[in-house]
Amino acid sequence: SLSDRLNGAFKGLRGKGRLTDADIDATCREIRLALLEADVALPVVREFIKRIKTRAKGAEVHGALNPAQQVVKIVNEELVGILGGETRRLALAKNPPTVIMLAGLQGSGKTTLAGKLAHYLRKQGHAPLLVACDLQRPGAVTQLQIVGERAGVAVFAPHPGTSVGDGSAPREVTVSDPINVARDGVAEARAKQHDIVIVDTAGRLGIDEELMRQAAGIRDAVQPDETLFVLDSMVGQDAVLTANAFAEGVGFTGVVLTKLDGDARGGAALSVREVTGKPIMFASSGEKLEDFDVFHPDRMASRILGMGDVLSLIEQAEQVFDAEQAEATAHKIGSGELTLEDFLDQLMAIRKMGPIANLMGMLPGAGGMKDALEQVDEKHLDRIQAIIRGMTPAERDNPKIINASRRLRIANGSGVTVSDVNQLVDRFFEARKMMSAMAGRMGLPGGNQRRS
Ligand code: GDP
Ligand code: MG
Repeated sequence: SLSDRLNGAFKGLRGKGRLTDADIDATCREIRLALLEADVALPVVREFIKRIKTRAKGAEVHGALNPAQQVVKIVNEELVGILGGETRRLALAKNPPTVIMLAGLQGSGKTTLAGKLAHYLRKQGHAPLLVACDLQRPGAVTQLQIVGERAGVAVFAPHPGTSVGDGSAPREVTVSDPINVARDGVAEARAKQHDIVIVDTAGRLGIDEELMRQAAGIRDAVQPDETLFVLDSMVGQDAVLTANAFAEGVGFTGVVLTKLDGDARGGAALSVREVTGKPIMFASSGEKLEDFDVFHPDRMASRILGMGDVLSLIEQAEQVFDAEQAEATAHKIGSGELTLEDFLDQLMAIRKMGPIANLMGMLPGAGGMKDALEQVDEKHLDRIQAIIRGMTPAERDNPKIINASRRLRIANGSGVTVSDVNQLVDRFFEARKMMSAMAGRMGLPGGNQRRS
């Protein structure tokens, strides 16, 4: 499997103290083969390998990770990136109903997905309506009705007399039929207060012009808020071809991968986002209603890597490393050697955790400081950040060298006044002195030998 192959690729790196460019090239060759074997589209593989190579060769030696872990970390991050980075949620219409149209080849899993999605949305408090617009395949309407019943949601279907899917005598189906059903379905949703409409459509076994025309007709009639391209993840290289055909013929806003429970080689998942630029939004992994989830790129990446334990090890190592860094900072504080660079790091780390006021509000016993906290001005922090960013590394490292002309340059570069810069630098020296004295009293590492 792809996981095994990737693991094989990393094996050669184990136990190495340093990675040479040749090591990285060899590993990338293996990764490339593994991806091609898993049916990832060639342009995607090329781009992926290029990014891995550049990052691996340019990687700074991270204190906590050995070279093999470093490469695994990079590959994992690139996998997450190629899979879309963050989960994208459904875009709901401002004026309900939200219309979601499903498109894809026959057998890709649209009707099954329609039920799962409806079930999922119902659990979230929505009132979806399923609309049966597959009038092509015998039994398709009935299939959706059964699916809807199981999911506990209403189904809008053409009147039995007009359906070809109910076992009645076949009759000519005009192209406009499913389009009318779609339009009537949305009207029904509006009348019966359904806030979401899921339109199930017909597919063909292969890409086909008439199918595309019909899907485009339905699209024009109901103007979906989301069109989901449903893709069987078991198909190999064809995934890209089909995705492109649907992108061109119908257009879509998101992708759903189905049959992830099978021994899919992963190629479809990795190619489709990169090739179409559209996010993978949901994943279907079985025939039961519950075999369905919002698509999480990070989980998929770690599944593809098949290295859950290694990844958590890397995470732990990095946390320990952060702890080491924190201790080093404490040491610098104690000895009065704190630099503006450290200060910026700390500020960024704290700000990553959310607005300062919220953060402090969570601390027990900070009640008395509440007033002071409410004075913390995020804009002021932005300014501090901008000023420090406007300094050269040498200035950050040794703020003593920041003379008048440097102050002017920094002020101009960061869009503040010289007096803002003065204030920051003066306060920084004051704070450093004070923190160092405090650290001395509290017995923190580094003692109280001030350098300034
Ligand atoms: P449609 O033609 O696109 O509407 O596809 P269907 O929903 O009728 O699904 C085609 C077949 O695939 C059916 O036998 C489904 O039970 C099966 N199927 C759909 N989704 C999944 C899935 O996620 N996993 C598995 N194992 N089978 C699925
Ligand atoms: Mg169907």
